[in-house]
Parts: sequence; structure tokens; C-alpha cells
Amino acid sequence: MLKVRQILTDVFGYNSFRENQEQAINSAIEGRDCLVLMPTGGGKSLCYQIPAIIKSGYNLVVSPLIALMKDQVDSLREAEIEAAFINSSIEVAQRNAIREKVAKGLIKLVYMAPEGVVSNLYWLKQHPPSLIAIDEAHCVSQWGHDFRPEYRDLADAFDQLPRRVPRMALTATANPMVRMDIVQNLNLVGGQQFVSSFNRPNIEYRIQYKDNPMRQLASFLENHKNQSGIIYCATRKSVEKVHSHVVKAGFEADYYHAGLNTSQRDMAQSRFQQSDHSIMVATVAFGMGIDKPDVRFVFHYDMPANLSAYYQESGRAGRDGQASVAHMIYGLQDVMTRKMLISTSTAPAEILQARKSQLREMLSFCETTSCRRKTLLEHFGESTDTSCGNCDSCLNPAAMQDGTLAAKQFISCTIRVIQSRNLQVSAGQSVGFGAQHIINILRGSENQMILKWRHDELSTYGIGKELSLKHWQCIVRQMFVAELIDEQHSEFNTLILTKKAIEFLKSNQTLQVREDVLFRQTNSSTSRNKSPKPSYNFDIQDEQLFNNLRQWRKNKASIMGKPAYIIFGDRTIVDLVNKVPKNIEELALVHGLGNSKISKYGDELLEIIKSS
Ligand code: ADP
Ligand code: ZN
Repeated sequence: MLKVRQILTDVFGYNSFRENQEQAINSAIEGRDCLVLMPTGGGKSLCYQIPAIIKSGYNLVVSPLIALMKDQVDSLREAEIEAAFINSSIEVAQRNAIREKVAKGLIKLVYMAPEGVVSNLYWLKQHPPSLIAIDEAHCVSQWGHDFRPEYRDLADAFDQLPRRVPRMALTATANPMVRMDIVQNLNLVGGQQFVSSFNRPNIEYRIQYKDNPMRQLASFLENHKNQSGIIYCATRKSVEKVHSHVVKAGFEADYYHAGLNTSQRDMAQSRFQQSDHSIMVATVAFGMGIDKPDVRFVFHYDMPANLSAYYQESGRAGRDGQASVAHMIYGLQDVMTRKMLISTSTAPAEILQARKSQLREMLSFCETTSCRRKTLLEHFGESTDTSCGNCDSCLNPAAMQDGTLAAKQFISCTIRVIQSRNLQVSAGQSVGFGAQHIINILRGSENQMILKWRHDELSTYGIGKELSLKHWQCIVRQMFVAELIDEQHSEFNTLILTKKAIEFLKSNQTLQVREDVLFRQTNSSTSRNKSPKPSYNFDIQDEQLFNNLRQWRKNKASIMGKPAYIIFGDRTIVDLVNKVPKNIEELALVHGLGNSKISKYGDELLEIIKSS
């Protein structure tokens, strides 16, 4: 398989394969079907691009979005691999020209949307491809997060080709149900699967308690100047609010949510895609189709609905494998908002139950003192023995504090409230009030509600005075994770007494809470917020040269009207700065510089390096 490796270095400028790439490539070359599961940024494209170059004929690539196709085709052409897409954005004359070229064997990769496969079936039957790659294959499954009915027609269409063409399905979705669905619906023969680890080692995970969100965001951005990133917010309203703050603070930013019309959304997305330093403030509507490799951070301004969503969203950072940060801030209010969304939903009871336990899992992930990555990977059924060294828990281990007494005081207080209403103290009983009211009683507040209900006369009134409000909120979050408190579905914010709570009072179980969350005050939050200079890959020895090369790339790209990364990625720039190549031979050792790019840009690059 010398040839495969030769192409890797000569055409793509990389020196080794990543996990499973070579196996998937060989499987396609040998004519077998397969399913490739790799995380975002894992290098799926190479798995069908290299076989396309090696095999005679062309490779049909099914891809769901026009923007994605365009980007891929641009990148391939930059590397002098003939590629084209056929979709509704292309005029008939141009389409015919592409078809003609394909028939002559001049094009190696043809991209189509699934509906395009069906509408071009007549032509495909006359000119069958030698390989079919189905990208974002999870779209075929209703269990996935992006079900697209058109994907269901693919297998049928492929079966009508005059001969059986090997199929390669690719996805970044780890869910086993989705996997099974893909194999079945795309009719993959043999069911061979290449499953890579879902770890994203270049992403640093950080989670911080939300105490002054705007300030926390501002100080985060201060440490990420001139970088591209996404800020996710839970609602459209907060998207717009956060966006205006970010712009006022002097950052280049757009916003995106489902309330905008298509052209507004397209414009925002394309500005973001083109720039190497712009920020997108968005709801989760800004999702699939973000193929931008140089997103350096994802900031969660609000807590996502569940861990899978968190993984998907944070995973939009660092597709290019370079050091990136996923930073989340969360608070009790996030939990309340999520719970309200669940309680007002009309979905069937079992789904609501599942969402509730996912929320609990999400919160427990936020509050954990163990390695974040380990917890995240375990969620996907991957076990790791070691801690990662690249998350806040590993870098800044949090101490634990005993919260048992406080939790018992809280439960006792809910029982007193139930008794004061002359109700029976038993599991499932409604307390009639929310957590905040109980905290107010414990802290000896004299607010109207308390006086009105004469809760200042309860024996638990004021017994938790010495703990701050923040401390109590932290205890409440922990109690929620431990199922020591629960809320009624129908009535927002009304606690119910749980069986576990009654047991907890009598037992010698303990409740531990993260100390940093308890005592961090607003002004000290910035210290943890500091972005450590990414410690690997991105260590730049000569900042001046780095900036000059970036500027050169930007100019080149804007002349072409393409995003900067189409020329080459950040890693190539870093490699150029650190290797300081002096001639063409040395340039060839730089990551991402294949023969065609060296012949196109080599002289200019050497000149910049010499004169910087
Ligand atoms: P995916 O489609 O799985 O999200 P891509 O195919 O876009 O990922 O690849 C992500 C990045 O990794 C790209 O910048 C690509 O050039 C780079 N890449 C892929 N394979 C390799 C490799 N073997 N060595 C180095 N970089 C690679
Ligand atoms: Zn870790």
C-alpha cells in the first residue's frame, strides 16, 4: 500500500495516517462496504478522497449541504484534485459541462445532495461511479439529531445502478441505535465498521459557575482575541443581547437563530465562515453545516440540554486538530429554565422522564471534580483509565467540602413546611414552595412570603444563616443531582419530598460539594477564566512571522474570494513558523504542504520567512 502513503504525503502533505483512516481507505479500494465513525475533525474526508484518487472512474459523495460541498470542492481544487458538485445552485450548461468531464474521466470526486442523487439517477445509471461515499450518514436515522427523509431514498437509488458500487458511510454520531439504522437503511453489505475514539484531545474543557455572565464572557474573550469562536445561548433573546455586548466590546461578531430569515442566516454564516477571527453568537439552530476548521473556542453562555448536545456543540471547536477551548458557564437558573422547558412540553411521559434524567446527568457533569473528558467519554461508552491533563478538573483540581449537614437542614425544613400545611409527610408529597423559598427560610429572610405564611415561626427558620446564598444554591444543585430533591411536573418550581430525601435524613450518607464553586466571588472568577496559552501545537516561537504569514494567507484568500483555510490551515502556519524552512526541500516537510501548494506558494512563503 505504498501508493496510499505516497498520496498522503505528496498530495496532502501529511506524514502519517490517523486512527482507522488507512483501514477505511483499503477497504474501499478493495471494494467492500464500510461504516466509518470518527469524531468531528477526525479526518473522515481523507477516507474517501484517497480511494477516489487511486481508483479509476469517479467517487460520488453524498453530502447534505451546499455550503459543505462548495468548501470541500474548493479545498480539493487547491490541492489540484479535480472535483465538482452538481446541485440546484448550478446552471444547466455548467451541469452538462461537468457531466461531460466526468464521462471523460477528468473528475475524481462528484458531490451531490441526496435529492440530487434521485433526480440524477438516469445519468448515474449511464455513468456509474466506482465508489459511493455517504457523508453525515446519521441523517438517514430517525434516532439521530438531523434526520433527513431524502437519505432514506438513497439505497433504493443505488440499487438501480447497473452494478453494485461499494458504499462508505461516514458519521460523527456515536449512538449505537443510529449506527444500526445506517447499516440497515443504506444497505451496507458485510457491516464492517471502523470506530475511532470520540476523544477530542485538542479541546480543553472548562466549566465555571455562572455568577456574572457578561463579565465572565468579556474576560474570556479578552484572552481569545483574533480568534474565531461560537457563543451558544439558550434563547433568541439572549443571543441578541449577548451579541450586542460582544460588538460593543469591539469584537467582530454576527448572530444566528431560527427567528432570522434565510438570507440573513446565510449572510451571517458566510461572514463567519470566511473570517479567521470572527465570533458567532447563536442558538443551537446554528449547527450542522459548520465546517469551519479553525473555530478556536466554543463558549456556552447557558447550559445545554444534555451531554450529547454538549459534546456536539463543544465539538465544533478545533476541527483542524489545533488547541481549542470549550468553556461553559452554568447556574441554578439554567437548571430551572431547562426544567421548565421539560415541564411545559407535551411529549409523552417516558420521554419527559428521560429528559429529566439527562438534565441531571448534565448538571452532575458540571459539578463533578473528576476529569471532564473521562466523564464525557464514559457517557459514550468509552472507558479511559487516566485523567486527561487538559480540562479544568485536571489542571486545577477542585477540593470538596462536606455539605451533609446543610442538605439535612434543607430536607428538615421542607418537612416542617409540609407539616405547617397539615399535610402528610411522605414520599411524593408536594412541599408547595420552591427551593428558593426554603433557602430563604433557612437563611432567616423576612420577606413577605415568609411572613405571610408565618414560616418565620418554623423551628428551622434561620438555622442556615451562616451559609451564603451561593452556598445554598450549590447545595441545592448537588441535592438535585443526588435526587434528594425533585420538582413537580405540572407546577413549575414546586418541590416534592423524595423517598431518597427521607432515607438520607436517617442514614449516614454524605453529600460533597465543589469548594471552588462555593467560594469563588465575582472578582476572583477571572483568574480561572484566563486562557492558558495552549500548551501544545500552538506554541509559536516567532509571533511576528506568525502574523505576517496569516496576513499573507488572508490576502491570498480574499483575492480568491474564499475562506483563509482553503489555502491551508493554522497548523501549517504554526509549522512554518517553528520549522523556518529555508528551501523547497524543507518546505515539503511542513504539515499540509503537498506538491501542488509548494509549487503554487513555495517561493512566496520562503520570501516572507526570509524577510520577517
Ligand atoms: P471530519 O470530516 O472528520 O470532521 P476532516 O476530514 O475535515 O474531518 O479533517 C479534519 C482536519 O484534519 C482537516 O484539517 C484535515 O486536513 C486534517 N487531517 C485529516 N487527516 C489527517 C492526517 N492523517 N494527518 C494530518 N491531518 C489530517
Ligand atoms: Zn481531564
